Amino acid sequence: MPEVWIITGGRNYKNRSKVESFLLDVDPETIIRHGACKTGVDSFAENFWHDVLKRETDPHPADWNGKCIVGFCKPGHRRRRGGGSTYCLAAGNWRNKLMAEMEPKASRCVAFRGGSGTHDMMQCARNNHIGLQTIGFDDLTIF
Ligand SMILES: [Zn+2]
Repeated sequence: MPEVWIITGGRNYKNRSKVESFLLDVDPETIIRHGACKTGVDSFAENFWHDVLKRETDPHPADWNGKCIVGFCKPGHRRRRGGGSTYCLAAGNWRNKLMAEMEPKASRCVAFRGGSGTHDMMQCARNNHIGLQTIGFDDLTIF
């Protein structure tokens, strides 16, 4: 059974080569689970591990337009877009929780620097006793 590793980090993260050089040292059988953000760490991981190296990823985009989750979302927290549609403010948090809880269980969570979403994913990993590895959190020059 291949291991599943969660990769997380900021959507504004710019250091693509830092993500790629990390991935080059990962066992090729590893499945890389990520949040499928179109920019930043998720996109670098998907592009390199899946598109370039032809290895397996397990992307989980947040369902921003979906219904709120009873018992998880705070009542009245949905936000309205300019066009009038609404979105769930906690869709990313719910997705992070599922990524940490789902089978096959991740054996590691690798976090590159990011904002509140990254820190939420890290907390979900801790809650599920998934080993956490942070990269570049002390290096303010790489973000
Ligand atoms: Zn919600």
